[in-house]
Amino acid sequence: MGARLIALFLGLLLVVQLAGLAALQASFARHARSVLPERLHTGSRVLQGLLDRQAQALQDGARLVAADPAFHEQLRSDDAAIIAAALNQHGTRLGATEAALVTPDFQLRASRQPDGTELAALAGRLAAAAATGGRACQVALLGGRAHHVVLVPIKAPQPAGWLLMGKPLDGGLAREMQSLSALQLTLLTQGPDSDAWLPAHSTLAPAQAQTLARHAWRAGQAPATLGAAGAELAVQPLWLTTPDSPGAGAVLAVLSLPLDDALRLPRDVQMALLAISVVGFAAFGLLGVLCVRRVTTPLGRLAAAADRLGAGDVATPVTDGVHRDDELGHLARAFEQMRVGVEHKQKEIVKLAYWDALTGLPNRVQFREALREAIRAAGDSGAPRTTVSVVMIDLDRFKQVNDVLGYRFGDLLLARIAERLSQHTVRGADLVARLGGDEFAVLLRDGGIDVARSVAQRIERAFDTPLTLEDHAIDMGGGIGFACWPQHAFDADTLLSRAEVAMHVAKRRGSGPQPYDPALDASSAQTLSLLSELRHAVDTGELRLLLQPKLALDSGDVVGAETLVRWQHPQRGLLAPPQFIPFAEQTGFIRSLTLWVFEEAARHWGTLESAGMRMPLSVNLSTRDLLDPELPQKLDALLVRHRVPAEAFCLEVTESAIMEDPQRAQATLDRLSALGFKLSIDDFGTGYSSLAHLKRLPVDELKIDKRFVLGMQADADDAKVVRSTIDLAHNLGLSVVAEGVENAAVWERLRELNCDQAQGFHLGRPMAAGEFLQWNARWVTRLRPDVPRGQVVLH
Ligand code: C2E
Ligand code: CA
Ligand code: CA
Repeated sequence: MGARLIALFLGLLLVVQLAGLAALQASFARHARSVLPERLHTGSRVLQGLLDRQAQALQDGARLVAADPAFHEQLRSDDAAIIAAALNQHGTRLGATEAALVTPDFQLRASRQPDGTELAALAGRLAAAAATGGRACQVALLGGRAHHVVLVPIKAPQPAGWLLMGKPLDGGLAREMQSLSALQLTLLTQGPDSDAWLPAHSTLAPAQAQTLARHAWRAGQAPATLGAAGAELAVQPLWLTTPDSPGAGAVLAVLSLPLDDALRLPRDVQMALLAISVVGFAAFGLLGVLCVRRVTTPLGRLAAAADRLGAGDVATPVTDGVHRDDELGHLARAFEQMRVGVEHKQKEIVKLAYWDALTGLPNRVQFREALREAIRAAGDSGAPRTTVSVVMIDLDRFKQVNDVLGYRFGDLLLARIAERLSQHTVRGADLVARLGGDEFAVLLRDGGIDVARSVAQRIERAFDTPLTLEDHAIDMGGGIGFACWPQHAFDADTLLSRAEVAMHVAKRRGSGPQPYDPALDASSAQTLSLLSELRHAVDTGELRLLLQPKLALDSGDVVGAETLVRWQHPQRGLLAPPQFIPFAEQTGFIRSLTLWVFEEAARHWGTLESAGMRMPLSVNLSTRDLLDPELPQKLDALLVRHRVPAEAFCLEVTESAIMEDPQRAQATLDRLSALGFKLSIDDFGTGYSSLAHLKRLPVDELKIDKRFVLGMQADADDAKVVRSTIDLAHNLGLSVVAEGVENAAVWERLRELNCDQAQGFHLGRPMAAGEFLQWNARWVTRLRPDVPRGQVVLH
């Protein structure tokens, strides 16, 4: 743009200058034309002066000769040769080609040239002119050439005649005239008997001189213009001979000036104008560049600033040109205002994106970024003991608060809780955030499990004091879980989800702060989907309840069966209990599952009974079932619904389930026993239950863990455990079941040890109810693969 502007300016300047030049030229030409006649007139006076001077010089020379005594002497000698020699000598000295001696009555006495008649006539005319007061001095045509001719009297001492001298007008006159007046001079001659003019001398080009010769000159002619050989000439004629001498010929001087030269601006003026133009152009160009720069440079910078804004850089202020007073300054300030506005908006957007509007705490997005950053920094620091922890809190009963006291109150409560959390937990670098809903988290940038635990406990204690809000005293609490990097997870997202898993466990258990434990979870996202799948499995009947027979060791009778669940998964095929039972226990879903097992077991019991097999079915209970205070009543209702007696079931409870909360377990077991259920301690030998405690429990049966039974052949210790367990159980009045009987030798050994019942693959694998009936039929008719010593099975 700058280059175009400058080109435009220079073009305008050129037009202006050309117009000025044209005006100047026109004015100059007008003026020159008006002074032309004056110039030519002056020129003719100069020429006249020159001619007069030349004529005077010739006349003075001739007078000196005429007065010279030596010349008188020579005249007096009357010798023609002497006189001719004297005339020759003086003529040569004075430059006179013509010199003649004329008698007083104008007869030629002697002359330099052989033919002197012309001279004698001329002398007469000159004398006549002098006598009438004129000068004895003229321009005359002699021999076809223009001459100055002078006539002086010779007094020696009385008049002795006349001396006539003639000197030709030569080219020198024309050149001198040109140098004096800058006019061109052309001498034209006209013979006595001719009308034609001939150019004698001229400073013009020959062709132009010829043109002048061809013109019809008239006496007294004023200056005029003539076209001559392509040029136009201003001319002024000057008659050098008197026109009133017929037969003497004529000499005409023509002063001329080419109009082109006269009217054109003089060269120095042209040069000056050119110089002014060049300087003007240069100055204008330079100024133009400076001016354009002054505009385009800030414009360019503003454009760059606009580009920056466009590219999203709103942090760099627009500083260029903001202090200017002109439009550019205005524009720059407008840009800066716009930038500040955009920056402000962006900050607000960022705030919305990173902060929780309700509590003013960082939100999940910011928390996650801060966690990532903390982990990156801890990883970079290289210090081996740096740990990053996340404590997660989920409020209990918040939904109730919302439902009962309204959302506005709920919002106020959340804000107060945020305050309390911040007050009680934050060390310098820690970060409290609201992750969403009633879920909060604390990031401990430098703190391992112990720090996390103490922060979690502090938070728990902070909830001890009820919150007072608008006359309501609210008793808030929540599940608190925590997880640490790098022990529990290697990245931020996993760490977050692990803290969440721990938090959910704490919430479920209603326990205090819970650290993450890999046993708690197979990642929470999976948990959710697995949980819904499991629910779906119950609803759509993907679960199967198998029966595994229990046999009396002494008689070989089928005396019962254990119910064992399977999941016929649509994609993953048949799943064994370890693949989903621990998960169901963690998530609390086991309670629903146990009820389903009971329903199914009740139906199986009915089936078996109607087939003539009335025997107790063993059902496995989990820790959570045992801790459920409502379990006895649920089972009772179930018995009523299915019209099944309580003796139809034997409830298997593991040692570890009892040991988790012995008092609650005892209370539940007492009530179950009171309802008529048989109770069995499962997996006996793996836990640490004390005998004293066992004694107090209302159990009927001990099941030796299959680990010992499987190992009893090879391992003497296992055999010892089996034997002492059998003895111990018998001492306590309990019947003993050995599970995991895989071969006849073990069966035999157990029989020797007085074990009461056996369960295992050697006798029968877990099977569906229908299959179980068939198996039983075969067993009874001794089609069983391996009849223990041909015993007859009594029914
Ligand atoms: P458990 O209560 O100890 O059940 C006995 C397990 O030993 C069963 O495994 C059974 O198939 C297996 N077993 C029986 N005889 C032999 C044998 O001769 N050799 C070997 N190696 N194993 C034998 P299963 O069915 O895989 O169940 C595993 C565990 O899952 C059970 O251990 C029980 O704790 C749990 N479980 C199964 N069904 C249920 C249920 O309906 N509810 C609850 N809460 N837990 C269940
Ligand atoms: Ca069992
Ligand atoms: Ca067992």
